[in-house]
Amino acid sequence: MHENIVIVGSGHAGVNLAANLRKKNWIGSISLISDEKYLPYHRPPLSKICLQTQPFTNPPLLKPDVFYKDNDIDLIQCSRVISIDKAKKTVSFNDQTLSYDKLILATGSNPVTPSINGLDSTKYFHLRTLKESEKISKSIDQSKQFLIIGGGFIGLELAASLRKQNAQASIFETESRTLNRITHPIVSEYIQKLHKDKGVHIQCNTIVESISQESDKILLHTNNGKIFHGDELIIGTGSRPNIDLALNAGLDIDNGIKVNQFNQTSDPHIYAIGDCCNRYNKKYNADLRLESIQNALDQAKSLSSYLCEGIITEPSIPTFWSDQYDAKLNIAGISSNADTYIARKQSSEELTIWYLKNDKVIAIDAINSPSDFIIGKKIIQSEKEIPKEYISDIHFDLKLLL
Ligand code: FAD
Repeated sequence: MHENIVIVGSGHAGVNLAANLRKKNWIGSISLISDEKYLPYHRPPLSKICLQTQPFTNPPLLKPDVFYKDNDIDLIQCSRVISIDKAKKTVSFNDQTLSYDKLILATGSNPVTPSINGLDSTKYFHLRTLKESEKISKSIDQSKQFLIIGGGFIGLELAASLRKQNAQASIFETESRTLNRITHPIVSEYIQKLHKDKGVHIQCNTIVESISQESDKILLHTNNGKIFHGDELIIGTGSRPNIDLALNAGLDIDNGIKVNQFNQTSDPHIYAIGDCCNRYNKKYNADLRLESIQNALDQAKSLSSYLCEGIITEPSIPTFWSDQYDAKLNIAGISSNADTYIARKQSSEELTIWYLKNDKVIAIDAINSPSDFIIGKKIIQSEKEIPKEYISDIHFDLKLLL
């Protein structure tokens, strides 16, 4: 409890770990090092509310600015940690070194750049940081056509925000549907219709093979021989974990920084939490690297319990949400190993997909259905066998299953 903790990264995982440690009376020093210049902020609004009006709306802070001083947390901003010396137990940044007893890597993830002929790094946007969201905001104009490569959450949320400001948006997706890896085809269909009704063009089964420029227009050349013209280009083709520090320090890596059941890396003095790490999940019998707020908060909480009290906790059910126009999609659990699914369509706006394995619910996707989502999450947790006919019967009160 008297040991010095250094946390690299001040996203949801890093900041909440520091806060939880103080709540649990950690006495040693806590340094929180961030390569961003802003006070730590909420990331999800960057693709949503921040971009829906002019001028740009700042995302809320994770903690008020006085919080760090009040809790004796040394927040070191604008400082990128460039190396770890495991033998000396130090990290280096800005020509200085800082010693640690325990080092926590909470370095998050960063957007992937696909290799496309003609892609000029000065002529497209990525979206991960407040700075990048501000840049996109400045470029928004009603007369502009935005070309978005990638039909995942970021691409779809951006398209919805751009349409709120009356800019045009087209999405180019390699797979046969948007959100292909994450949700059921019925959910993808619902989301795609929502965007179509709002005037977004979604081109699936489309690979952007090359990009060129003609006066001030950007031209996307696709595998089906078509050319699409636009004014701005956004790349939203997924993220990869920030592992460079860990890799250079010789820590075990496997789709992220490999950690054990209490988020410890292959070095006993170094831990990793949030988007950057990959941890075994007993319930799903799989190594999971999750990119969600819930996961960052859950791991921050469980690591603080371990460090302060020696308690090892099992991860909570993974959850994720997305807001597009007036629709809210909530996801609980991991559906990839399901053997059956059941659709429960309460109305044209409300829909849930229940994923089962061996007659037990393992995941749920809920569109505009917060109560089914909460019930579904509890059912997943309980591991009860549920008669399928109850789920599909929209007149059956699901609360009776709890
Ligand atoms: P991050 O928030 O990425 O924080 C890591 C921090 O570490 C960053 O500030 C990074 O700059 C810093 N860093 C990295 N390397 C170094 C270094 N060497 N030295 C110093 N600092 C370093 N999740 C949801 O559940 N729901 C949503 O609706 C949702 N919407 C999203 C919308 C957008 C636009 C984005 C980008 C993400 C969204 N997410 C959403 C995902 C969610 O934001 C992440 O899962 C979450 O932020 C992960 O927290 P983290 O602390 O692990 O990483």
